[in-house]
Amino acid sequence: MRHSWRIGRIFGIDINIDSSWFLIFILFTWILGANYYPQTYPGWSPLLYWVIGIMTSLLIFTSVLIHELAHSIVAIKQGEKVRNITLFILGGVARISEEPKKPFQELLMASVGPITSFGLGFVFFVLALALKGTSVALHAAASYLGLINIVLGIFNLLPGFPMDGGRVLRSIIWKITGDLRRATRIASRTGQALAFLLMVLGGIQVLRGYLSGLWLIFIGWFLHSAAVRGYRRIMVETVLKGVTAQDLMTKNYESVNHDLSIQELVDNFILKGKERVFLVLEEDEVRGIVCLEDVKATPREKWATEKVKDIMTPREKLMFVSPGSDGTKILDSLTARDIHQVPVLDQGQIVGIIYRTDVLRFIQLRSELGV
Ligand SMILES: [Zn+2]
Repeated sequence: MRHSWRIGRIFGIDINIDSSWFLIFILFTWILGANYYPQTYPGWSPLLYWVIGIMTSLLIFTSVLIHELAHSIVAIKQGEKVRNITLFILGGVARISEEPKKPFQELLMASVGPITSFGLGFVFFVLALALKGTSVALHAAASYLGLINIVLGIFNLLPGFPMDGGRVLRSIIWKITGDLRRATRIASRTGQALAFLLMVLGGIQVLRGYLSGLWLIFIGWFLHSAAVRGYRRIMVETVLKGVTAQDLMTKNYESVNHDLSIQELVDNFILKGKERVFLVLEEDEVRGIVCLEDVKATPREKWATEKVKDIMTPREKLMFVSPGSDGTKILDSLTARDIHQVPVLDQGQIVGIIYRTDVLRFIQLRSELGV
């Protein structure tokens, strides 16, 4: 389980730091304090190298935070909700709760990031000019920060999802074709291609003896998986848009009595039919659900003595949805809780069951047929 800490709140947005962030912070400080500054500017005291190193690292992450805040503020202005901003090993991410509704909205939200980074780069370069002749150390730090913000801006402009440039590309294709799914597919593919290119470049560097290539491989790998994940997410959201529990549920489910032994459940129900899940009833009242996994988890010698009610998931512990529940949210909670099915409850009565496999099949069929 990952850990993150809330360090503050800006414009109503929680700012979190992921545990992996400390690693990159220490690495950056070390690279700057022990390598970059001593090699580029010889003759400072060791303490000064570290002070400037720590200060530069902190300002790099402040810059990343400002970049993410720019995305978030534009998102909020567009009526979106921003849940939080998290800083982690590869920078920052703003969790915006919904996908943009119009191409222009996405263009605006995405492009403001690199624009902010270029703006910060400009500010730091101006600061560096102003500090020239006053303090060598502060001038050095400001120049470095100017450069790093420009590099950040350029890197984020790479036209592949999930980089900002990929979102810009997506919004343009979306505007031209009117097809968000196709636009996402193309932006995701270019993102994967760029990520692959980074990994190849990293590999070449490593083969030539530069260990820093490992870093490129790592970034490439991360971007690749983010591109794939982002695409799947959009597919699911597009296909399940407007789909509710009612459309996904099946009414074909069987019930068993709570006093049934497990052996009887296996012989007379599981092996005879094709169902894997059964509602457990006690005088027409639903008491819980029993599924194949519950049976498998019970040692065979207990099948004759234990009853269905002993191994079922009781009603109090079950998750329910209502017929109007949103399809994407249902799939999310099934995945998050790692459960295979959920009963649909309408005014206290169970009216159907939704199986995770059915939802996945629903998505697959629709996306294959393009409907
Ligand atoms: Zn960005």
